Amino acid sequence: MIDRKKTKVISLGDIKIGGNEPIRVQSMTKTDTKNVRATLSQIRELVDAGCEIVRVAVKDHDSLDSLKQIVRKAESPIVADIHFNYRLALGAISAGVKGLRINPGNIGSEEKIKEVVACAKDNCVPIRVGVNAGSLEKHLETKYGGPTPQALVESALHHVGLIEKYGYDQIKISIKASDVSTVVKGYRLLSHRLDYPLHLGVTEAGTMQAGSVKSSVALGILLSQGIGDTIRVSLTESPLEEVKVAYMILNSLKLREPMDIEIISCPTCGRCEWNLTEMVNEVEAKLVGINLPLKIAIMGCGVNGPGEAKQADIGIAGGKNKALIFKKGKIIAKVPSEQVVDILVDEVYKLKREQ
Ligand code: SF4
Repeated sequence: MIDRKKTKVISLGDIKIGGNEPIRVQSMTKTDTKNVRATLSQIRELVDAGCEIVRVAVKDHDSLDSLKQIVRKAESPIVADIHFNYRLALGAISAGVKGLRINPGNIGSEEKIKEVVACAKDNCVPIRVGVNAGSLEKHLETKYGGPTPQALVESALHHVGLIEKYGYDQIKISIKASDVSTVVKGYRLLSHRLDYPLHLGVTEAGTMQAGSVKSSVALGILLSQGIGDTIRVSLTESPLEEVKVAYMILNSLKLREPMDIEIISCPTCGRCEWNLTEMVNEVEAKLVGINLPLKIAIMGCGVNGPGEAKQADIGIAGGKNKALIFKKGKIIAKVPSEQVVDILVDEVYKLKREQ
């Protein structure tokens, strides 16, 4: 069991972050915020996939009208992502967002931050200080010779200090970089210095495969050390994939209950007599959207399969002619191989109906 650092609890609308609250899964829409229909549709898909907080980019004043409509209709708290223009932060708060993400490296002078803080405070809107290695303040780059973990932490501490100076403490912090070791070192340092909730992420992590691996390594290390209150997996992919990977990371560390099926499949070896990859894909495709937290094992042979998949709720193993169906590692039926996928899927739907 992971001993989580007890951070301060803040609220984004109905969602609480920090303390003993579950580690929250966030993502960001990839639509143009001005396209209200497309953005709301993506938010709905994200919420259905388990995303608890959705961030949208607010890049100009024209986006603010759309933002207002999005906030009104969205099924999750909306966080406005603001760069460069503090007036957009003020506009986003009046549009009704439940959270604000500002980038200290480009939001402007202390006066501007003061105004944003006052407005956020009046409207009980938490602020995320989102430091990013790619847009760090120039003087810190010069002082540290680049976006080092220390530089990212100094930037975050400075801006948290400014928000506190103007009497506000509804803060969460992120210090993202695309380099795993910078992310890990930075968050560790930050976690020792502050008790505000931390939002974890590897920025510009990359494609589905590379990004998932980088995020899993960085977030896995930090989460296993009790650091982190919310996460986002950034991928050059659909945001739905980001949410799936985020839950896989949290599930693998037993930090969140699974929301859907988890397929356990063996790597195959010389004993395997069927096309396991094809079968796994078929089972996965037939169970899309079932929303049943069940471990399903799909194993390459009946010799070691059931034994290797003891932890699964239900599964199949077999070969060319005959296949075994097992529950909790025990064989319960022997069926012709060509029927086994359909029988397995039927069994899973039966369990769903019995729920
Ligand atoms: S379950 Fe069978 S086929 Fe799969 S890796 Fe184990 S021994 Fe090989």
